[in-house]
Amino acid sequence: MQNYLRLFAQNREWANAMRAADAGFFERRSVTQEPHYLFIGCCDSRVPAELLTGAHPGEIFVHRNIANQADPTDMNMLSALEYAVEVLDVKHVLVCGHYQCGGVRAAMEPQGHRLVDHWLQVVRDLQMRHEAELNALADDGARFNRLVELNVLEQVFQLSRTPIVRHAWKKGKRPILHGLVYDVHDGLLKELVSGVDGEEHARELRAAVSGDFVHVPPSLHLAP
Ligand SMILES: [Zn+2]
Repeated sequence: MQNYLRLFAQNREWANAMRAADAGFFERRSVTQEPHYLFIGCCDSRVPAELLTGAHPGEIFVHRNIANQADPTDMNMLSALEYAVEVLDVKHVLVCGHYQCGGVRAAMEPQGHRLVDHWLQVVRDLQMRHEAELNALADDGARFNRLVELNVLEQVFQLSRTPIVRHAWKKGKRPILHGLVYDVHDGLLKELVSGVDGEEHARELRAAVSGDFVHVPPSLHLAP
């Protein structure tokens, strides 16, 4: 109970500090939110979207699930995406994976995690598609890290296929899709892919996630 009550004490401290820095902050935020970003991240407690980007309430619209999936059949994700793109008109959609992701690790292990095995099937399939690339890596740690990165790229590609994003692109250039990975060892974000803002980039990204890494167009800014 002590730990639970501590949350309220810390909450009061935080709210007081926010008010001290900006007396009208909560009053303004109570009226509306105007986030420029949709952040799709993992549930992992070490990857809090606002803390690691220094954002305040109202600046990032967040959807989190195990292993930062953008599953096109997930009504939860689609609802958040639709609201962010069509109502909030966010400029950027960020898929953020992280090293040491327990979800990705579970997908690399034999099944036996019950319900979550279904959820992680996409990551398992991804691992099979990239078997040659992953097996060529030096050790298990390198394979783990690479699968985390491939999973981010795959989810950005999945986002690019959704009718919500495609419809938005037809009307203009929003949203721009980005794939990031967060390093739990040093707290830093790394860009894996950025600037995916139309059909052409979506096609290029498809080549990158198909299992064939022979040609990656420079326009995608795909990091090694
Ligand atoms: Zn994770």
